[in-house]
Amino acid sequence: MSALEPKLQSIYELVLQRNPGETEFHQAVREVLDSLGPVMAKHAAYTDARVIERICEPERQIIFRVPWVDDNGRIEIHRGFRVEFNSALGPYKGGLRFHPSVYLGIVKFLGFEQIFKNALTGLPIGGGKGGSDFDPKGRSDGEVMRFCQSFMTELYRHIGEYTDVPAGDVGVGGREIGYLFGQYKRITNRYESGVLTGKGVGWGGSLVRTEATGYGTVYFVDEMLRTRGGSLDGKRVLVSGSGNVAIYAIEKVHELGGTVVACSDSGGYVVEEKGIDVELLKEVKEVRRGRMTDYADARGSGANHVAGGRIWEVPCDVALPSATQNEIEEADARRLVDHGCVAVAEGANMPTTPAATQIFAEAGVLFGPGKAANAGGVATSALEMQQNASRDSWTFDYTQDRLAEIMKGIHERCAATADEYDVPGNYVVGANAAAFVQVADAMLALGVV
Ligand code: NDP
Repeated sequence: MSALEPKLQSIYELVLQRNPGETEFHQAVREVLDSLGPVMAKHAAYTDARVIERICEPERQIIFRVPWVDDNGRIEIHRGFRVEFNSALGPYKGGLRFHPSVYLGIVKFLGFEQIFKNALTGLPIGGGKGGSDFDPKGRSDGEVMRFCQSFMTELYRHIGEYTDVPAGDVGVGGREIGYLFGQYKRITNRYESGVLTGKGVGWGGSLVRTEATGYGTVYFVDEMLRTRGGSLDGKRVLVSGSGNVAIYAIEKVHELGGTVVACSDSGGYVVEEKGIDVELLKEVKEVRRGRMTDYADARGSGANHVAGGRIWEVPCDVALPSATQNEIEEADARRLVDHGCVAVAEGANMPTTPAATQIFAEAGVLFGPGKAANAGGVATSALEMQQNASRDSWTFDYTQDRLAEIMKGIHERCAATADEYDVPGNYVVGANAAAFVQVADAMLALGVV
């Protein structure tokens, strides 16, 4: 990573000092600051108005106790978070993550990224994120329900369709959103559909929301490949993870003529030269809540499960990291480049370490950062809010066309902004600069807020 200009360096040092120990948040801020030198040179008003310093400070941070009773009658205590980061463009919008690794630094990194991602969609949504250190894995439906009810019993007072609209993320899918919405409705006595997104399609949800992040990431990578006269057709692809983003990324790659030869979970990866059977994967992961070992067992001899291995050691043309933060490290990036990988798009949030990103840049690998490449999920959440506000529901094809159009628009915006700042093809600078300028201009217009 290159040195920051003195002004940006002093802002970064302030962030380090004011947010001790929050390493993921530091990394997310640093990655944006790295792109902002030329932007600040062009817009002196941002420096005078201390826009960056304000953007790095959340508007509001809520931390709360979540007590609940497990199936054995034992009282469990978890910690809940909601960071309402920036509402210059619209109500705070961003998912909830339930995972044992969740602490304030993770929520802040995700919330910070979300501000810029949401701006890139071109839709009127601000940035926020939340979650808990609760792990739904291995819990009964009754336990998950009681946890969600307790979580919402505190969260409800902070959210609302014009205030803050949470959604799912890691560990929070349709089941959890259902329990959360049910409790919100009960406490407030309002059928306020627009307060949460990711709802079931029968009760206010949008078609395509489940598929949107994975599909959107694949549309984005296809657009990147087209700038060099290629496409996904015939490409060998790796998709890490096997959750919501990964499953629908695999489905769309196959639809566009590529072959996903490997996917993973935290226990290891499965390689299958003929291509992952996505219908079976959905059955194992979404219905049975099983593991990649269960998928490999069901698939038989064609699928090889590598316990504890790193998926990036499998040769590929395109890599779509869709599991978790910092999952592609320097050595993984080198291996991908050595094997001839030509494009990487981040389905997950910040899955590539700064050193790995640098290696891709030096090798001329097309690189789509998460805040652009995985923005299809939140964009479709905003489409869900539109349908809720107009008491309407759109068809699958219409919604999918809107998603494809939005992803194309994000790609064009990032590419055009990279050109404007003389770094053609650099989607990291393109995404950060385009999004930052939009949020900063809104903040200037709104006064010192
Ligand atoms: P899920 O909980 O549905 O799936 C996460 C998947 O990643 C699981 O298969 C999990 O395996 C796997 N995983 C976690 N840690 C590792 C690891 N160290 N190595 C390999 N696999 C791992 O989450 P989502 O699919 O919703 O989210 C994935 C990423 O995408 C996150 O970064 C999220 O923030 C981001 N994202 C999600 C959006 C959405 O709409 N869902 C929108 C935008 C971004 P295991 O079961 O073993 O833990």
